Amino acid sequence: MSKIKTVGVIGAGQMGRGIAHVFAAAGYDVILTDISAGQLEAAMSSIAKNLARQTAKGLLTEADEKAAFARIKSATDVAALSDCDLVIEAASEVQAVKKEIFASLKGVLKPTAILASNTSSLSITGLAAGTEKPENFIGIHFMNPVPVMKLVEVIRGIATAKETFEATKEVVASLNKTMTVSEDFPAFIVNRILMPMINEAIYTLYEGVGSVEAIDTGMKLGANHPMGPLELADFIGLDICLAIMQVLYEGLADSKYRPCPLLVKYVEAGWLGRKTGRGFYDYSGDTPAPTR
Ligand code: NAD
Repeated sequence: MSKIKTVGVIGAGQMGRGIAHVFAAAGYDVILTDISAGQLEAAMSSIAKNLARQTAKGLLTEADEKAAFARIKSATDVAALSDCDLVIEAASEVQAVKKEIFASLKGVLKPTAILASNTSSLSITGLAAGTEKPENFIGIHFMNPVPVMKLVEVIRGIATAKETFEATKEVVASLNKTMTVSEDFPAFIVNRILMPMINEAIYTLYEGVGSVEAIDTGMKLGANHPMGPLELADFIGLDICLAIMQVLYEGLADSKYRPCPLLVKYVEAGWLGRKTGRGFYDYSGDTPAPTR
């Protein structure tokens, strides 16, 4: 397996931008792709802002900040990924979308390239099955916001080669992050535990046990969580939360994972949280205002 120098990132949403940011800051050349040119433009300006924030905090020098930003190129065509040693897919949490992306990479990637998914919940073995080289495929699950969170969950599919795993370990260490290993079960470790808690918070709201504010204040001050579960759901994206609950519900065939109908309604309404300006909070004013 050749040394990893150039990293491709597919999907320039909140995760893809964070992943591009940390790889560029660690000295890798980065190619960020998305089907939407608008998303790429928004991604580049948010990466510039976040790098500048790190400089202001004394975490980067001005020269490092400029060099990191200059290492990121963007493209709407996956053909731009042909020289990448590692490609991380961070597109929407929809299996069909991811499968289509992997099919479009056939004949594009170098034979030695590692292909990874940042999926929060989907089977790595299942995603690998649609790729040219399942032995080169692995789950690399970053946490949000990527430049801040220390953890990276790594998941091997049934076909993942030892070399792919070893190279992934090195890459994660080079980002100065801590790796944990999860077996390939629905939602892995972090979301298997976190998402049912968030879903339960939404049930608590749905059943009228408490208001948005009471639930979030309760968990912040009563359980010492840095963010309340509804605030966190808005931050993650309600579409992502629902997709993960559905994978848990179907994958483990247990009714305890049933997505809350209120979560389904919010997603149907297009109220996806921070990224659309409204979720359990309304983000149009200076401070987020609870919507229930
Ligand atoms: P997002 O909605 O912010 O961004 C998704 C991006 O994918 C969008 O820019 C969209 O244009 C792009 N996209 C959709 N179809 C595409 C295609 N065919 N080709 C290229 N780009 C395409 O989503 P996100 O929150 O960044 O999540 C991305 C992935 O990361 C998901 O698998 C999610 O489960 C996972 N993840 C999310 C979080 C979180 O907190 N949001 C945390 C860890 C992992």
